[in-house]
Amino acid sequence: MVAAGMWNPIVFRRINKTWRADDLIAAMEDFYLRAENLLWERFYHPGTLLRKHSSELEKKLWLEKMPEEAFAPYLEEVQPPEAPHFKPFPYGCGRVHQAGHLNVPLFLEAARRYFEQHSLLRTMDVDFPTEPPRTNPLHFLGFHADMLIDCRGYRAGLEGFFTYLPFGLAKGEVLKVRCAGLDMSETFNAGFFLKPLDEPNNYQLGATFSWDRQDEQCESWARENLLERFSKHIDHPCEVLEQKAGVRPTTVDRRAMLGRHPEIPQLWIFNGLGAKGVMLAPFLAAHFAKHMLEGEQLDPEVDIARFASHYGK
Ligand SMILES: Cc1cc2nc3c(=O)[nH]c(=O)nc-3n(C[C@H](O)[C@H](O)[C@H](O)COP(=O)(O)OP(=O)(O)OC[C@H]3O[C@@H](n4cnc5c(N)ncnc54)[C@H](O)[C@@H]3O)c2cc1C
Repeated sequence: MVAAGMWNPIVFRRINKTWRADDLIAAMEDFYLRAENLLWERFYHPGTLLRKHSSELEKKLWLEKMPEEAFAPYLEEVQPPEAPHFKPFPYGCGRVHQAGHLNVPLFLEAARRYFEQHSLLRTMDVDFPTEPPRTNPLHFLGFHADMLIDCRGYRAGLEGFFTYLPFGLAKGEVLKVRCAGLDMSETFNAGFFLKPLDEPNNYQLGATFSWDRQDEQCESWARENLLERFSKHIDHPCEVLEQKAGVRPTTVDRRAMLGRHPEIPQLWIFNGLGAKGVMLAPFLAAHFAKHMLEGEQLDPEVDIARFASHYGK
């Protein structure tokens, strides 16, 4: 499990809201709070994020948009913190509201336990055949299924029945670090993120992006890159405890990929959550279920029908 579990409604480059931010946040709030009640665990942690402005332009855009109705609930301009470990803030800093993080391992473990207790889950590694099954109902791996959903994250871009879709997979790495005496309670973002963990003095430091390899091997350049970015903005010793690598199921147009296989109507895909699985999943899963079960139209922006011309090429 690599994901840092954070969500952030703001795209910093031009100070825009992320795709359908208001809807995604409402769906998250509804889903994760209900899930916490059902699963008897606390994994949903709404909070704030401290953003060090990267340029005069970023600061200008931030200040221009902050009073707008669409941005007011999310943006605040604040005084740079005075703590000695922060290097200077030449362009100032802001606070993003309605951000936060999900304890992803805890959520997944609690969900897995619940589904297993209710005999709704079997776990196995699936070897995908190159040719999709074509019977109705589908006979696949010993199951008879009316509907089969491929939700294998980035693996769906490498093998299986949907490899024709234009994934643009992005490998990423994160570090778990110990910074003894660094007293930070809020996630800090300055082109990298430093997120406080529950254990005192421990933080998650991330994340890299690279497009040339799609594997889960940790690489030394990634560790060096993250430590370099840390020391550019924070003047404090930092000891690496752990390094993890994963691959984000990103897509060329940065939108999710949901829908039905072009030839086999019982085969579906739920994928393309990119770097924002925590934020996108509750909204898109509800939307997808309504489409599959009640026939509600899929949002064309996430429907794989937009890539129909790629099939068979
Ligand atoms: C370094 C890094 C940091 C990230 N940080 C964040 C973050 O802070 N916030 C955020 O929202 N997102 C983050 N992400 C992105 C997040 O991890 C993805 O958006 C999310 O995991 C996508 O969910 P998914 O269910 O589609 O795929 P996955 O989470 O990859 O789940 C796919 C599942 O399918 C299983 N699987 C694959 N192949 C097979 C097979 N053949 N047989 C059986 N099972 C199989 C896998 O084991 C896995 O359990 C990060 C990603 C990386 C790499």
